[in-house]
Amino acid sequence: AAKTAGKGQWQRFRPDLHVGMVERHELQAGLDNAISEEAFALRYQPIVEINGAAVTGFEALIRWPRRRGLVPPDQFISLAEETGHIMPLGAWVLERAASDVARWQREHPRTPPLCLNVNVSARQFIDPGFIEDVQRVVDTSGLASGSLVLEITESVLMRRDEQIRTAMRTLKRLGVSIAIDDFGTGFSSLSYLREFPIDVLKVDKSFIDDIVTDGQQVALVEGIVRIADILGLQVIAEGIENAGQRDLLGAMGCRFGQGYLFARPMTADEAQRLLSVTGDRRASPLVTRRAER
Ligand code: C2E
Ligand code: MG
Ligand code: MG
Ligand code: MG
Repeated sequence: AAKTAGKGQWQRFRPDLHVGMVERHELQAGLDNAISEEAFALRYQPIVEINGAAVTGFEALIRWPRRRGLVPPDQFISLAEETGHIMPLGAWVLERAASDVARWQREHPRTPPLCLNVNVSARQFIDPGFIEDVQRVVDTSGLASGSLVLEITESVLMRRDEQIRTAMRTLKRLGVSIAIDDFGTGFSSLSYLREFPIDVLKVDKSFIDDIVTDGQQVALVEGIVRIADILGLQVIAEGIENAGQRDLLGAMGCRFGQGYLFARPMTADEAQRLLSVTGDRRASPLVTRRAER
């Protein structure tokens, strides 16, 4: 870059911090507009049973369509958390995803109903308005009871405070299940698996990537599956990209998976089409009702 003339030279000496701030400002202005115009989009990635690939449900994944294409969430969720935009954004995701999946549940009635997994950021989870948002969606969306799963990361649990416990108890009462996303990548202790009413562990893709060639990774994932089994939790393996990974995970007793091997995140129309082909095939429940703890 130093060899290019003029503009390139200037860029070379422009402090990175400044570039960051310009982009940040643009992003923030864009977020302001996008929220007022509800200009976001959702994609849905199937969660499947590893044995047989029957669709158990969908995870909603947010996208931000801009002139240059779809901006992935990694590029705006943390900013939205800092600015407080995450609250209206998160409420929109919940409402929109619940109304889509409620429709699919009506069109493809089965026992158990399709589940809907929604990602919730830490900042969103601890906001006093969050439970109200969930309550409203549970009451009004027509989503089958017990089919909503909220995905949180270990960072939420590390706070270990009373507010988190109260929020979780309320969610349980609403029939909402809780999944730990990116499980294994955080810095929290394993004891929280007993302390909090958790239903599902989503094993992070970084553990799945090398399982075919790396025996230590196999041992770690096997360990997670075993712990989950003993504690009565379901396991979803994230980021399954090839048949070798699928077969290994199936053999070690991991029930559920997600990944490009099965399906990429898709539009609501595509998900609907997928269901009209496979929708009447019964899948195992991701979450079964357990005694309140
Ligand atoms: P996540 O919840 O762990 O979602 C999994 C990510 O991995 C998604 O990226 C998904 O598209 C991608 N993925 C799934 N299968 C594969 C695979 O086989 N290979 C590879 N390479 N990738 C795969 P995405 O959609 O870009 O989302 C990234 C993260 O952004 C999510 O990670 C989640 O933490 C966050 N996020 C997405 N939607 C929302 C939302 O509505 N609210 C909040 N708060 N966060 C969200
Ligand atoms: Mg997730
Ligand atoms: Mg995840
Ligand atoms: Mg992940």
